[in-house]
Amino acid sequence: MKALIIGGGVGGPTMAMALRQAGIESVVYEAYETPSDYTGLFLNTASNGLDALRAIGVDVAGRADGFPMPRMVMWSGSGKRLGEVANGVRLPDGTVSVCVKRGLLQKVLREEAVSRGIRYEYGKRLESYRTVADGVVAEFSDGSTAAGDILIGADGIHSRTRRILDPASPEPSFTGLVGVGGYSRVPGLAPTTGTQHFVFGRKAFFGYLVRESGEIYWFANIHSATEPTRESLAAEDWKRRLTELFADDLPLINQIIAGGAGPIGAHLVHDIPTSAVWHRGPVALIGDAVHATSPSAGQGASMACEDAVVLAQCLRDLPDPASAFAAYESRRRERTEKIVAYSRKLGTGKTAGPVARVFRDLMMPVALKVFAGERSHAWMYTHHIDWEASAA
Ligand SMILES: Cc1cc2nc3c(=O)[nH]c(=O)nc-3n(C[C@H](O)[C@H](O)[C@H](O)COP(=O)(O)OP(=O)(O)OC[C@H]3O[C@@H](n4cnc5c(N)ncnc54)[C@H](O)[C@@H]3O)c2cc1C
Repeated sequence: MKALIIGGGVGGPTMAMALRQAGIESVVYEAYETPSDYTGLFLNTASNGLDALRAIGVDVAGRADGFPMPRMVMWSGSGKRLGEVANGVRLPDGTVSVCVKRGLLQKVLREEAVSRGIRYEYGKRLESYRTVADGVVAEFSDGSTAAGDILIGADGIHSRTRRILDPASPEPSFTGLVGVGGYSRVPGLAPTTGTQHFVFGRKAFFGYLVRESGEIYWFANIHSATEPTRESLAAEDWKRRLTELFADDLPLINQIIAGGAGPIGAHLVHDIPTSAVWHRGPVALIGDAVHATSPSAGQGASMACEDAVVLAQCLRDLPDPASAFAAYESRRRERTEKIVAYSRKLGTGKTAGPVARVFRDLMMPVALKVFAGERSHAWMYTHHIDWEASAA
């Protein structure tokens, strides 16, 4: 069997490596003209995502300059410590969730896939595909085509594969948040080893961590009642706007923004709560293409990796692609939709009016103590893939 994988982000190379381990050959077709190793900011690869990668013998943490991030500490804008939440659970060997720059994660996965003999083709933007008697033919915007037995859409939140598979699939939904972020340095600021800090500011939400090297990773989430245009985001003077938004909060926030090194990136936060069609005929979707999540739960990359490994297992163990795709959907739909919904809920709590703020600052310390132990989110983080187990 030969698979065409559309998209060489996080899910694409993972899919290719998992298929290889299942004895199925594939080629990755990526729209970018050359490898794009510096796209995106940083993200969480949660313990469940690391577990999925381990099922195919990939260890990204050290190679992608990832660093352990087992703890999250919450603060009010005025500097009151609201409590602590575990970011994932420890795997049996002690491994915990790691923070990585997205581009480096993508680079390490690609390099690992290529070193295992997987072919990448660049400048291959999927335009269309057609189902033929013995499989599927992909058509790319450069006029070329490729034939395979199956096609897997790993082409992200604005997936072209999804649009062709189900023309009625809804557009990604705006979550009401704009994400802004970058890197910074503030002389004298101590490393926050193992801990990411989150501040519920009066007007916006702020997150940061300080590496041993002094480099600060930071982001802000701003509520927006209506969906801004991409042009308006690009035209915004973010340093000025953020400085105003956080003027009444912990002064450290504006020190971090002032110490910015490099550009400030801004993007609209979208998600896809549900997709009616996950597969049809020889085509299936994985990752953001079928269940994009907002970043609040830190699960986008991890879910794409889980999907890839589970789908490869199903293709290995079931007699034909149709039954493999059905088994894959039945194993993945409920979990991924639950995580997308959970992440959206976390996002809505990031900004609050004055009354809700007082209530939150009073209640959150109690709630976090009672509900936020390492086991409280075990349903999300302890997902384990046993590669040897049969998916049949
Ligand atoms: C540029 C970028 C920046 C991001 N930044 C962050 C971040 O800072 N924090 C965070 O938490 N998450 C970020 N994400 C999302 C996060 O990477 C995903 O949730 C996660 O990687 C899911 O993996 P995926 O493989 O499903 O999709 P992605 O990793 O998004 O990969 C999709 C790939 O498909 C390619 N592609 C798209 N359309 C086509 C087409 N028609 N034909 C061929 N190839 C196509 C894209 O170029 C991309 O390489 C970012 C995603 C992107 C694309």
